[in-house]
Amino acid sequence: MELFIHNTLSREKERFQPLDAQNVRMYVCGPTVYDFAHIGNARPIIVFDVLFRLLRHLYGEEHVKYVRNITDVDDKINARAAEEGVPISEITARTIRQFHEDIAQLNVLPPSVEPRATEHIAEMQVLIERLIEHGCAYVAEGHVLYDVSAKPDYGILSKRSLEEMIAGARVEVAPYKKNPGDFVLWKPSKEGEPAWDSPWGAGRPGWHIECSAMSWKHLGSTFDIHGGGIDLQFPHHENEIAQSTCALNTKFMARYWMHNGFLMVEGEKMSKSLGNFITIHALLEEWPGEVLRLNMLRAHYRAPFDWTRKGLEESRTVLERLYRAVGEAEPAETVDEEVLAALCDDLNTPKAIAALHRLAREGRAAELKAAANLLGLLPMTESQWLEATAPKVELDEAEIERLIAARAEARARKDFAEADRIRDELAARGIILKDSPQGTTWEVKR
Ligand code: AMP
Ligand code: ZN
Repeated sequence: MELFIHNTLSREKERFQPLDAQNVRMYVCGPTVYDFAHIGNARPIIVFDVLFRLLRHLYGEEHVKYVRNITDVDDKINARAAEEGVPISEITARTIRQFHEDIAQLNVLPPSVEPRATEHIAEMQVLIERLIEHGCAYVAEGHVLYDVSAKPDYGILSKRSLEEMIAGARVEVAPYKKNPGDFVLWKPSKEGEPAWDSPWGAGRPGWHIECSAMSWKHLGSTFDIHGGGIDLQFPHHENEIAQSTCALNTKFMARYWMHNGFLMVEGEKMSKSLGNFITIHALLEEWPGEVLRLNMLRAHYRAPFDWTRKGLEESRTVLERLYRAVGEAEPAETVDEEVLAALCDDLNTPKAIAALHRLAREGRAAELKAAANLLGLLPMTESQWLEATAPKVELDEAEIERLIAARAEARARKDFAEADRIRDELAARGIILKDSPQGTTWEVKR
């Protein structure tokens, strides 16, 4: 079956034709690791996991290479390390571990390669050198900057003029910039910040060059699909294209650019100040990971998405119904045509899920299982699901109260690691804590 995907470059749905069907290549911008991933971050992770599964189905598992990076050098990471008074490596190692644990529960496959920015500084420096050589970058006051006036096609992805881009991007004004829209490829590090030697002095890379370097190293100078959230379209992806095409002398960086829509929470933009900033980690304490995954896929990936408690409750009901229908069945060998056709039509997951309902109604358990598996759903049997979601209380109330008190003491002495450990231990045993100004209460996880 032919795959059609919406290409941000043309703003149209296009037939997907890989450069090499034996080696289909996709790159997706991964997390910056300084804090728990929020549910908005989970959207590209889940959406592109479905695409990865679909590409493997269409081209064969060994013919698809999926690279999703980790940004482990960033000002936000430095700030967090300084705040907590711990080494940067401790922040990144802890966050990466947590990220992996969280998304595993969303039944997300590991990508083929998960490169880290700090392990690709040499490749970034090679690209920066070439950019200078090719006249797309210049050195100024210890910085290397990309010159957005160097090539006429800057703006090819976001389809904006230079003026519009600059107005929309709140660009940093600096006296040494030739054009206000010029962006940093390399910058000097201050005392205490991570620094690498370079021909331009000790410093660190800008954010955009990281993805150009990691995709080049692992996928080559031109590849098939590049994905990420819509917020990355400009400036991040526009800048990746400018860097890669100039440094590597190519017409394209990726042939197809895909962007997932933004996620809101209960109708509002997610933000720490509104108090609606929800992490995957916190949601997983209350909901099975599969409910979160299904809930995400009930909307089309390009549509804006409103994440609500009501939606989660509905998703749980849907999943219970699907598990009742699938029972203990083994997956059929082929995937239902309607489900496959929906996914091949620019990943129409709502339509695919509607087809799963039809299979459930018709009592075709094996077909249901195979089709749902392609979406990363119904990995368990019904009895495993019931077992996994049954209330588990192995602790008596006195024991729970004792642990809550121990956690409060740990928090009082600012030992947040111990406090989190206790909360996680209780969660693992089926007890969810709820903190409020009146104190901590608990309930049994459903
Ligand atoms: P960041 O760690 O902020 O660089 O984001 C990692 C990924 O999550 C990127 O692909 C972002 O586009 C995506 N992302 C961040 N916030 C949201 C949101 N609220 N809705 C959808 N995607 C998001
Ligand atoms: Zn990127």
